[in-house]
Amino acid sequence: MSDLSSLTSSAYQQALEVIASVEPRIAEATRQELADQRSSLKLIASENYASPAVLLTMGTWFSDKYAEGTVGHRFYAACQNVDTVEALAAEHARELFGAPYAYVQPHSGIDANLVAFWSILAHRVETPALEKLGAKNVNELSEADWESLRAELGNQRLLGMSLDTGGHLTHGFRPNISGKMFHQQQYGTDPETGLLDYDALAAKAREFRPLVLVAGYSAYPRRVNFAKMREIADEVGATLMVDMAHFAGLVAGKVFTGDEDPIPHAHVVTTTTHKSLRGPRGGMVLSQEEFAADIDRGCPMVLGGPLSHVMAAKAVALAEARKPEFRTYAQAIADNAQTLAEGFLKRGARLVTGGTDNHLVLVDVSTFGLTGRQAESALLEAGVVTNRNSIPADPNGAWYTSGIRLGTPALTTRGFGATEFDKVAELIVDVLSNTQAGTTKAGGPSKASFVLGDGVAERTRAASAEMLDKHPLYPGLELS
Ligand code: PLP
Repeated sequence: MSDLSSLTSSAYQQALEVIASVEPRIAEATRQELADQRSSLKLIASENYASPAVLLTMGTWFSDKYAEGTVGHRFYAACQNVDTVEALAAEHARELFGAPYAYVQPHSGIDANLVAFWSILAHRVETPALEKLGAKNVNELSEADWESLRAELGNQRLLGMSLDTGGHLTHGFRPNISGKMFHQQQYGTDPETGLLDYDALAAKAREFRPLVLVAGYSAYPRRVNFAKMREIADEVGATLMVDMAHFAGLVAGKVFTGDEDPIPHAHVVTTTTHKSLRGPRGGMVLSQEEFAADIDRGCPMVLGGPLSHVMAAKAVALAEARKPEFRTYAQAIADNAQTLAEGFLKRGARLVTGGTDNHLVLVDVSTFGLTGRQAESALLEAGVVTNRNSIPADPNGAWYTSGIRLGTPALTTRGFGATEFDKVAELIVDVLSNTQAGTTKAGGPSKASFVLGDGVAERTRAASAEMLDKHPLYPGLELS
């Protein structure tokens, strides 16, 4: 056991004892969560395993500190240490991504997107309106001018990728606030290939003339050409916002460079910090200088007090991502996704777009006679954690779905390589091939229930355990 892992073991051992002295059931659930994560194949594309350093940073007294405002300009007293933390996290983010400006306060990806939307609205709608009216800020406006500005702010257009072709619900999905605060339209993918069709997108943008063009995805298994996206945005006068929540680790690790790196092309880039970037749960906004002042007003515009303990953990994770090893990790994420995709294709499965060139694979499970929900549940019973996901033009909707989405970031963190990911594909195909759709209580076809063949769960768990034991999660971390 290395020094660091023995320190980590005693840190967690003692922390759990302190927690157990107050609420033992939480200590027990925390232990159980580690055991469960250690013993299952985690293939959820949006999850990862943050390092003990990142996790430990979140459990401190920074959690108790209020620090509304920005570095050196707080609405609360005694924020000197939070200033250190926030300035360092932002510096690491700027250096890592080569971004002129970084805002590290958003609590999550959704918060980051809200900050971005409102900063774009402030920059492009509110500020010009105030200038025209000769007012310094909205408090100086008459009731009538304020009402007309509010109407103007609520009357803008956003074009984003549709949910069923891989976009995120914050990209203009009607039930989400983004679909309510903007007039929204959605672009999709080519029905034949499943790939983004930039000409169709450009035609839609010319017709719709959005204020905001959103690029980025949650379930599109391909790279995006952000230089082309910027050309389209410029042609129609839109602000290009890229949500790189899913693939930030591949940008940080220089797997996505040139036209595939959103930072030099987008006006504003948002991200989560906990997916492929392998940091704490949280969000960030990066931007060109032009938008910096507006984004800096994320609090009070959209946010309240920042989570100082999480900003500290962001600084630690970003410092990790600046190390050369992170580039090796990011490349392995992409290589492993290729192996996983090839593993499915050679065993006859159908993949949306026919493959991948990022960190995720979207399997159409209808060819196995299953819904996504049945496939997800059957796999879970066999110790394989995936999530069901819509595929383009999904006949089963967003609840039952026809797909499962798989990502490589988490198991790559555990050290899985080509041999293991090929085996993962084999195990999943075995489970899906040996699962039958079930029936409802009334005897009709069910979209949820399933029957897993005898012995399939046991043989999958045994084969997984062999790989998981060779690649332990948090090696050396032992709890008595
Ligand atoms: N943006 C994208 C593309 C995402 O995939 C997600 C989460 O899945 C989010 C934003 C929202 O992130 P969070 O869950 O941290 O709010």
